[in-house]
Amino acid sequence: MISILRLVALALDQLEVAICVFDTRHRTLLWNDTFLQFFPEHAGHVHEGEDYRENLRRFYLERLSPDELPAMERYIEEGVQRHYQQQRAFEFDHHGYRVRAASVSLGALGRVRLWRKTTPLLPGMQDRINPRLAQLSGQISADTARALESLADGILMVDKQDGAVWANHAFLVLYGLPGIASLGARQFDEIYAETWRREAPTAGFARGLAILKERQRFSGAPYVLALPQNRWVRIVELRGTQANGSSFFSHVDVTASRRQQEELHQLTQHLESLAGKDALTGLANRRRFDELLASEWGESRRLGTPLSLLMLDVDHFKQLNDAHGHPFGDEVLKSFTRVLTHVVQRPRSLVARYGGEEFAILLPDTDAASAAKLAEFLRLQVEGMSLGTELTGVVRITVSIGVACTSHCAGDASSTLLVDAADKALYEAKRKGRNQVFSRAPAASED
Ligand code: GH3
Ligand code: MG
Ligand code: MG
Repeated sequence: MISILRLVALALDQLEVAICVFDTRHRTLLWNDTFLQFFPEHAGHVHEGEDYRENLRRFYLERLSPDELPAMERYIEEGVQRHYQQQRAFEFDHHGYRVRAASVSLGALGRVRLWRKTTPLLPGMQDRINPRLAQLSGQISADTARALESLADGILMVDKQDGAVWANHAFLVLYGLPGIASLGARQFDEIYAETWRREAPTAGFARGLAILKERQRFSGAPYVLALPQNRWVRIVELRGTQANGSSFFSHVDVTASRRQQEELHQLTQHLESLAGKDALTGLANRRRFDELLASEWGESRRLGTPLSLLMLDVDHFKQLNDAHGHPFGDEVLKSFTRVLTHVVQRPRSLVARYGGEEFAILLPDTDAASAAKLAEFLRLQVEGMSLGTELTGVVRITVSIGVACTSHCAGDASSTLLVDAADKALYEAKRKGRNQVFSRAPAASED
């Protein structure tokens, strides 16, 4: 049997696979040249009958930093345990390469270990691996730690109470932490806030904190957080994967793709603006509104039909943004838009976003009284809207509406006067206490 294994070992040299065979009492039986190439620390030392522990000792002597050496005996014992228990292949870094190792039982004969180089390591990657293994919290094995160290993504491990107990190098770099000790068993929220401590807080940061709060309720879904210097990180939780109740979080830097998304968004907005469409609500934009106002004004003059205009402005919208965040404000504007478009359905009527939280509704062939009625109906619909999320609770909004009609304007007026009249009416509605409709006085009392 041994002689067959020797032949196999030679064959494996040709495939650049390292092999070392041990008996049931973990004494070294044979090895091939590739083994010595992969692990030059054994050349001239390894000998038949040598205890596997000596092999491991040389391995660790080369890898461990001085401050880790006291833990060496523990590593060796863990290595021996692994030698027997290992079922699946695992990977580690050695001499500038990522090496994949398998261990197979030979029954009564002992055990064979095999190694294959996979990829060369990037410069600097090796240096960062060893010194930090000494900082293992006891909750993560050296092998797992090594595997996680070689990932480009940040990995954070938290205990049952969500306290941060271990992180890989990429995570520490991402959050500007000097070392594992600085995790200090803190919750991630605190680490996140700390990252922003020396920065001017932005809306992204506020949103990040809100997301982290929200996450405690809706755990599981990936989420994206803003980091200082306009960087972004996407976090995925791997809950309940560990027997001891600890969990892993992967933190992926998504800045590049996020910036691309932003550029694309800006481009889309630009194109939509050219196309006359408002990006957020899908309504006609100001530019389109001006065009249609001019043509409807001409039409109304030509046919002698009334043209009405409603100007709507959401009340105290700034407070709503301040209380629940700008993204929520955006959602409210979308819901508000749905109410408007649901109610205003005549084919020639136009609902437009005039700017910010201000909207305009152009109503051809509609007199002042009908326009005021419609405005009042809209006001009530908006008042009855129930908005909000689990996070915000129920949120309500109101709207102030100014109504103007061509019948209020003098014969030689221009379309801008109609807008002015509606604007003034809106101002009056606000002044009188908001959540109301104000119509410009009939033509007789016009100035
Ligand atoms: P008022 O009742 O007098 O109208 O009070 P207001 O707070 O609604 O008015 P103000 O003009 O002071 O504030 C308007 C706010 O609307 C401020 C601005 O940030 C917000 N806003 C404008 N456009 C958008 C938008 O697209 N999305 C969100 N979320 N907010 C917007
Ligand atoms: Mg407003
Ligand atoms: Mg406004």
